[in-house]
Amino acid sequence: MKAKILLIEDNEQNRYLATFLLEKNGCVVSHAPDGPTGLDLAGRERFDLILLDIQLPGMDGHAVARALRARSDLDSVPIVAVTSYAMAGDREKILAAGCDGYLEKPINPETFVADIARHLRPSVVGPAS
Ligand code: MN
Repeated sequence: MKAKILLIEDNEQNRYLATFLLEKNGCVVSHAPDGPTGLDLAGRERFDLILLDIQLPGMDGHAVARALRARSDLDSVPIVAVTSYAMAGDREKILAAGCDGYLEKPINPETFVADIARHLRPSVVGPAS
């Protein structure tokens, strides 16, 4: 799949694994280490999907999701949160902030790309190979 993905993630190991898996499947990944950088990139380039870590330094993922969703030009861009929080109510909080989905850390390499693909437009995912 030839998706352009914006990965907002401060942890280098998580970033490495996610990027490796996505690039192996034909995606192009841009990276932002914090929320403000991610917001800036999202305004300058068109992405097919935004992968958003919730635990970020400074501006957290909920605030980043709300800021992204405040921009009408990004209405059609899916946001998938990635978080190690697994407490009751967290999923609702993430969805209420404007995210379309939620993945738990640690990333499962077996299912990660398929989980992302479910949120992409079919034309971006392309035929199964
Ligand atoms: Mn983090």
